[in-house]
Amino acid sequence: MDFTYDPENIFAKILRGEIPNDTVYENDHALAFRDINPQAPVHVLVIPKGPYVSLDHFAAEAAPEEQLGFMAAVAEVCRGEAVANGFRALSNTRRDGVQEVPHFHLHIIGGRPLGRMLSPA
Ligand code: 5GP
Repeated sequence: MDFTYDPENIFAKILRGEIPNDTVYENDHALAFRDINPQAPVHVLVIPKGPYVSLDHFAAEAAPEEQLGFMAAVAEVCRGEAVANGFRALSNTRRDGVQEVPHFHLHIIGGRPLGRMLSPA
């Protein structure tokens, strides 16, 4: 698998502070911020600070402390947001997953009933 990282992607620019974001939570290894085009009352993106293009890249190559930091951010987001009734966590990946931004991000979506997981293609 080619996990070549493009440092000019929009989330890399957010991490460098070149583009503003609505931060929900941050630690040494991860940043959580509100999606610019929310699909539900809660729509937060959790991203690692390291240069990982996708979930499978991050899972395969991120150091243990990066993975722990990322999951700690997920825990904080879910604790702080209105998702007591549930939520959906998803990571669109490459072409078939219709990934638009090539920096790994986990969508945390909730705050309303979300329907079935997939609609017919
Ligand atoms: P995906 O890559 O998972 O298909 O989607 C990328 C997500 O990033 C979309 O939900 C889109 O609304 C969001 N997004 C794209 N550009 C920006 C941006 O500049 N700021 C924020 N906060 N979200 C963005």
